[in-house]
Amino acid sequence: MQCRYAESGFYIAAHQVASPCCSIDTGEYVFPYESIDQFLDQKILLDLREASKKGHILNHPACADCVYNERRSLTSTRHKGLKIISKSNPGEHKLKRLDIAFGNTCNLDCVMCSPEFSSKYNAAMKDMPNELKSGMGRTTLKNHTLSYEKIDEILDKVGNTLESVILKGGEPLYDKKAQYFLNKLVDINPNVKLEIISNCTIINQEFLSKFKNITITASIDGIYEIYEYIRGFDFKILDNNIEKLIRMENVTVRIIVTVSKYNFAIVPQTIDYWKNKGGIEKVNLQMAREPWNTPFLVGEETFRKISKKRPPTKRWKWEMPRANAHELHEIHKTFWNSRRGMDWDSIDVSRY
Ligand code: SF4
Repeated sequence: MQCRYAESGFYIAAHQVASPCCSIDTGEYVFPYESIDQFLDQKILLDLREASKKGHILNHPACADCVYNERRSLTSTRHKGLKIISKSNPGEHKLKRLDIAFGNTCNLDCVMCSPEFSSKYNAAMKDMPNELKSGMGRTTLKNHTLSYEKIDEILDKVGNTLESVILKGGEPLYDKKAQYFLNKLVDINPNVKLEIISNCTIINQEFLSKFKNITITASIDGIYEIYEYIRGFDFKILDNNIEKLIRMENVTVRIIVTVSKYNFAIVPQTIDYWKNKGGIEKVNLQMAREPWNTPFLVGEETFRKISKKRPPTKRWKWEMPRANAHELHEIHKTFWNSRRGMDWDSIDVSRY
């Protein structure tokens, strides 16, 4: 087993740590990002490259996330790398794939988010009851962002070797640093493949029209009030923004749904809603893994019934939630009911 991310991937997470791929984003295998030269000299990177060269990448303890997915017949980050990163020649060590978040600057506080990825969620945490914060193992953070000097260094040193770049957040279309980066990158490397993961609440068509070809992956976790509860944003405005993007000739639109206890019951309807709109390339799903949000909280019978309805969820295997997960979910829901001014239990999903 080899991995092209280990060979030529470069990931900077929203909390400004680095590794070869987004499946390695916390713990002992990441390091605070300082510079390209520091990245290329890290022991963990050299170890992963060696493990990949020998075909043993999935034996490396840093790769537990890919092992988890591949054992369950799910698509892993390693699988994606085989499709989107070209094979390197022996001894070639170009950085070809950049996966970058400029910090946690974000205009939304989605219920399944965390302070590392959203400055607004970070602010919301100040009002959370202590039992919720300690149950989730989270505290508020100092907001963080990549400096303009570091952005310039990345572009100057590896901007022209990159085959593809994915921008994450925070919210890249709200964060001025992401826009600064994109404006410079297209001058240095006009043919680079660009993808932005965005909440699509702020769409500047004039800015997006500068790029020859760009994929926007819209993070949208439901429809109507379920979306509004989860993301705290007006569904009609979001829906209108997606239609604007679909009409742009240089933009490919995909949807990514984070599936949690909150939206699992309407996953089939959510997929149909976006597919029926026309012009959306695909709708992907990812599962929320946090114990207080996991879709396993709907119970085994409901989980099996819903998951077998659509191909993306058919292979999802039931797992028993942790002992205190239901209790923690109830505290979580009470907090978000009050923050959203909505009552989750009175939202009737059966009409969709
Ligand atoms: S196997 Fe997975 S976790 Fe390991 S480097 Fe490759 S993509 Fe990352």
